[in-house]
Amino acid sequence: MLTDEYVKRVYDQVVARDGDQPEFLQAVYEVLDTLQPVIAKHPEYEKNGVLERLVEPERVVKFRVAWTDDEGKVQVNRGYRVQFNSAIGPYKGGLRFHPTVNEGVIKFLGFEQILKNSLTTLPMGGGKGGSDFNPKGKSDAEVMRFCQAFMTELCRHIGQFTDVPAGDINVGGREIGYLFGQYKRIRDEYSGVLTGKGLEFGGSLARTEATGYGVCYYTAEALRVLKNDSFEGKTVVISGSGNVAIYAAQKAEQLGAKVVTVSDSNGYVYDPEGIKVDVVKQIKEVERGRIKEYAERVPGAEYHEGCSGVWTVPCDIALPCATQNEINEESAKALVAGGCKVVCEGANMPSTPEAIEVYKSNGLLYGPAKAANAGGVAVSGLEMSQNSYRLSWTFDEVDAKLKSIMESIVAASLAAAKEYGEEGDLMAGANIAGFVKVANAMVAQGV
Ligand code: GLU
Repeated sequence: MLTDEYVKRVYDQVVARDGDQPEFLQAVYEVLDTLQPVIAKHPEYEKNGVLERLVEPERVVKFRVAWTDDEGKVQVNRGYRVQFNSAIGPYKGGLRFHPTVNEGVIKFLGFEQILKNSLTTLPMGGGKGGSDFNPKGKSDAEVMRFCQAFMTELCRHIGQFTDVPAGDINVGGREIGYLFGQYKRIRDEYSGVLTGKGLEFGGSLARTEATGYGVCYYTAEALRVLKNDSFEGKTVVISGSGNVAIYAAQKAEQLGAKVVTVSDSNGYVYDPEGIKVDVVKQIKEVERGRIKEYAERVPGAEYHEGCSGVWTVPCDIALPCATQNEINEESAKALVAGGCKVVCEGANMPSTPEAIEVYKSNGLLYGPAKAANAGGVAVSGLEMSQNSYRLSWTFDEVDAKLKSIMESIVAASLAAAKEYGEEGDLMAGANIAGFVKVANAMVAQGV
């Protein structure tokens, strides 16, 4: 609950300005709530208007994206880039192509990105972008033309020292390739302006795996420190079947767990023998098909319509890797009823505030998104370093750096939580640790 007067005033202002952006309000409320003990101890933040500035993006760019479909018809979508905060580095954050994208969704993601990027220990500010373009059912040529049209406008707002986009939902290696090609064509500049690039043109080894592997490294470290436990022998429920889910499943299995589910927006598959990651990769990455096909190929696996059913599957650990607010109060209760003891978030803000309350009141280990899924952007930061050096590190080098960053995020979160009287709270700790660095940089740089 907001009790601090300054924090309340700032939140009320956000409600007055952005009351029609529910996801953004949700993200801001959660952060402000946990920052109250910090604000109480540091009057310089109020004096410098740090919170007022933190909740208002430095710049919001909104643009028309006109492209031609395979029938020769002109289609118009809306594009966004929110450049939220550049206190500790150039804006950094992904692009999401999905029909649910609007300004409020991009703002919530950009806001989360500020603290997430700060937690990685790398010098990156927060940003996010995307479009309401729906790539489902579009041909490869249509996706290419859309990406080119999108970049034709976006290119004037980004650059390797100003703003470095990457992927997010529905923006993977293929899209980044088309976007990069168009940037280079227009700007005549070969730079690390995007991350998640192909390995042939400046991409980093382990970037594809990074978010999913990172969630597991984070979970493993939190389990070790807080519960003296590990993935060994655990049953894991994963939602989603994109890049994050696939590599989270792969790493969880490597660490000795059995992953029994994956899902998409239509439904989920339950495989009591353990999900075969290669089959998921073939369906989703090669054929760009639906997860239902898994059950048609793997004997013993079941397909269930409706994606929220995945949370009723008994498990020890849940890794939500699909999308925002995919776990509500009812789903959280179902998880608890099924024996779940750990929820670490691969997606951005997958749990509603009511779901988080259920985790807390039942003593679950809860790893919030901005900490648990920071591995993707962390390796993006490492990709930027390699691009600047004009060299590439080996898979093992990047993977080792990723693992140590994820472990450092657990340590920094627990230390911050302890300092401000929230011992063991990974959510408060992540918000506080991420915030303090950004806030101090904002104070130092003046208004
Ligand atoms: N979209 C990812 C995220 O939510 C990665 C962003 C990036 O690599 O810049 O953090």
